[in-house]
Amino acid sequence: MAAILGAGLGGLSTGYYLLKHNISSSLKLFLLEATNNCGGWIKSLKTKDYVFEQGPRTIRPKGINGLNTLNMIQDLGLSEHIFPIRHDHPAAKNRMIFVKNHLHMLPNNVYDIFRTNEPFSKPLINAIFHDLKQQKPHGDLHDDSIYNFVERRFGKEIADYAISPMICGICAGDAKEISVKFLMRTLFEWEQTYGGVIKGLMRSIFKAKQSDVSQLTELAKKAQEEKWNVYTIKGGLETLPITLRDFLAENSVDIQMNTRVKEIEFVDSSLVNLVNQNGESLKVNHVYSTVPAYSLADLVEKQHPELAKNLRSIPFVTVGVVNLYFPSSTSLIQPAFGFLVPPIENSPILGVVFDSCCIPDQKGTVLTVMLGGRWYNRWFGDGATKDALLDVALQHVSSILHIKERPASYNVNILKNCIPQYVVGHYDKVEKIRKYIQDLNLPISLIGCSYDGVGINDVIYSAKTQVEHEYV
Ligand SMILES: Cc1cc2nc3c(=O)[nH]c(=O)nc-3n(C[C@H](O)[C@H](O)[C@H](O)COP(=O)(O)OP(=O)(O)OC[C@H]3O[C@@H](n4cnc5c(N)ncnc54)[C@H](O)[C@@H]3O)c2cc1C
Repeated sequence: MAAILGAGLGGLSTGYYLLKHNISSSLKLFLLEATNNCGGWIKSLKTKDYVFEQGPRTIRPKGINGLNTLNMIQDLGLSEHIFPIRHDHPAAKNRMIFVKNHLHMLPNNVYDIFRTNEPFSKPLINAIFHDLKQQKPHGDLHDDSIYNFVERRFGKEIADYAISPMICGICAGDAKEISVKFLMRTLFEWEQTYGGVIKGLMRSIFKAKQSDVSQLTELAKKAQEEKWNVYTIKGGLETLPITLRDFLAENSVDIQMNTRVKEIEFVDSSLVNLVNQNGESLKVNHVYSTVPAYSLADLVEKQHPELAKNLRSIPFVTVGVVNLYFPSSTSLIQPAFGFLVPPIENSPILGVVFDSCCIPDQKGTVLTVMLGGRWYNRWFGDGATKDALLDVALQHVSSILHIKERPASYNVNILKNCIPQYVVGHYDKVEKIRKYIQDLNLPISLIGCSYDGVGINDVIYSAKTQVEHEYV
């Protein structure tokens, strides 16, 4: 018997891969979820006029992880529900930042790099010369913040106006704390090995490998051929976890909702006792934990305080999400993905997504304002009400986008500790945690956004690799 803890995307994908590898034929599977919802942070609120995505909304099709998700989507029969945003769609081309009281379009074609685009004071091509001129720092660096790295290689403006807002958009974090390996591992290795990014790029160009197209499904091939930038799912992203849940249920996985695991007791290398909130026990041979690292820390604390301490050292941030719907027949926004606010602007909002441009079948203008993140406590403290967040969101929508009317409907959520922060040293920390588990032969696998990547593709891929590590 095996148990999966958590029915977010990590837990559901773990069930999917266990079933695909036919492991359930020899093993009874349980999926234990604390709430009465499948999908974790993925929640779509649908009406006949609009969809409010309360968590994630788009998925990237690129890289091994991205193609792997598309393979899974096709296998689940969801190909027809995919809404691709191709490279020439306004939501792919038009991404803005809000700096010094103005919205600025980020460069989106090769000619732009030779021009001076505000708020940058020089053409972006200068960043390349900066990298070529700059020496590698003395001694070997094992890790660094992504801000330090980008400032050193490409200059302060690129760090402030390009990378810092991008980090806010991806993990609501502070680029001055996030590890360079989170997004730029290869570029960092090029710096360390060859003395610069461009120098490393030149050497690697001839070594570039093609991905193995034979392993791709029709959907993944289509995404490559049509150059999708991102995609979403018609009717809301929640369709994916719901379909996964149904697939698991049809294949005899015992899904137990409203079951919060309170303690994990390791009996020996192939026996674990799981105790839930009602004091009931479930004995299994292996546990796949997909709950956030801080939750798992509480569960193992009693027997393994050192493991708990290391798990707890992975920080998380809180994000306020305010969805707004304006029914006006004329669009109130320009066609674009939305805009991000660099931390240097010192604003309570991280950015605004123009959902009516990225998500199909919206009748009117739909926006999502993201607030707080790494700076949530500084702006809102512990006790901020949803009304307070709504007010801040509306003030910014009014002053930045000049939308003066009240939304016809809205939805506010405070997603407490929702996104892990891969700060400098994160990858060493995860290695140490896994080594502890391996050394003590504990029958537990770690999956989910706390360890091997924070995005949807990463979480699905981590489920695949951990299942295959265990059984294949
Ligand atoms: C606001 C926001 C926007 C995002 N946007 C994007 C995006 O556009 N694109 C993208 O790729 N990614 C995005 N992400 C990231 C993406 O949502 C996550 O990577 C993914 O949902 C994480 O899934 P998970 O299964 O690891 O964790 P979770 O979704 O946190 O699931 C964990 C589950 O475990 C359950 N649980 C916790 N403790 C226990 C316990 N003791 N017992 C039993 N169950 C328990 C929880 O209730 C939950 O259901 C976004 C995230 C957020 C928060």
